Amino acid sequence: MAKQRTLRKTVKLEGVGLHTGRTIRLRLRPARPGTGIRFRRVDLDPVVEIPALSRFVVDTRLATVLGRDGVEISTVEHCLAALAGLGVDNALVDVDGPEAPILDGSARPFAAAIGRAGLAVQAAPRRVLRVRKPIRVRDGDRYVILRPGQGLVLSYSIDFDGRFPGDQHYVLQVTPEAFRRELAPARTFGFLHEVEYLRSVGKARGGSLENAVVLDGDRVLNPEGLRMPDEFVRHKMLDAVGDLLLAGAPIEGHLVVHKGGHALHDTLVKALLSRPDAYEVVEAEPVRPALRPRPRPVAVPLAAHA
Ligand SMILES: [Zn+2]
Repeated sequence: MAKQRTLRKTVKLEGVGLHTGRTIRLRLRPARPGTGIRFRRVDLDPVVEIPALSRFVVDTRLATVLGRDGVEISTVEHCLAALAGLGVDNALVDVDGPEAPILDGSARPFAAAIGRAGLAVQAAPRRVLRVRKPIRVRDGDRYVILRPGQGLVLSYSIDFDGRFPGDQHYVLQVTPEAFRRELAPARTFGFLHEVEYLRSVGKARGGSLENAVVLDGDRVLNPEGLRMPDEFVRHKMLDAVGDLLLAGAPIEGHLVVHKGGHALHDTLVKALLSRPDAYEVVEAEPVRPALRPRPRPVAVPLAAHA
């Protein structure tokens, strides 16, 4: 059977917080089997520890925010995505402020830090949450469906109703290699008018072209352009990988999302956990890639904007 994994050593990251604009230091640390992922506010005395679990999600409007006893840690999703995508079961994430650093807006710096730490195999068996029955959540024209399937397969589409960046669709079987290559580099994005509004209400103080793709009408304002033509849908998938881990164990199933985001991902995880007949927690089988179906990535180019 597959074993749990943690980091081989502690690694540090430092950068601006998207909403506070403050410099935040983050440390990824090894943890014992069965710990799961736990965020810790180490600037507080006593330290407040918040497990990365759905029941501690307190806000999903601008980022995934964890909270406990009035203490919050915001923007945990890209760090969580890297831990989930690279198969880390147990880790402590120390932060010295109310949010994780945004870094370049993607999960790549977190994935690189995990790569620097290396992974250690632990004695305990790895547990996964295997989907047994479909779960559906709908909000107007947005929906998400989680079906039984081998491994974790994401099929994601976005649609801006004719406005840039238009429709994008991508399918991926999430393995550590696929995550690192296909999803981790995709940056968060926003529209200039949204950024201006957020600034006017005291948010996004740390936001810049260094840590987000910013769109104005049908233009990308970042001088370096996009990292990949379908960076937008890939970033949504990256967010989903992080948000799904809040179920408390890696999910094995096929997730189909249309026009999703943190709120819909969170609603799906809560709907799943409220239906114990729809899943089982089992010891993970070792990965046998040759027996797995390999969905071909489908990228819908950005037409004139590509
Ligand atoms: Zn994101």
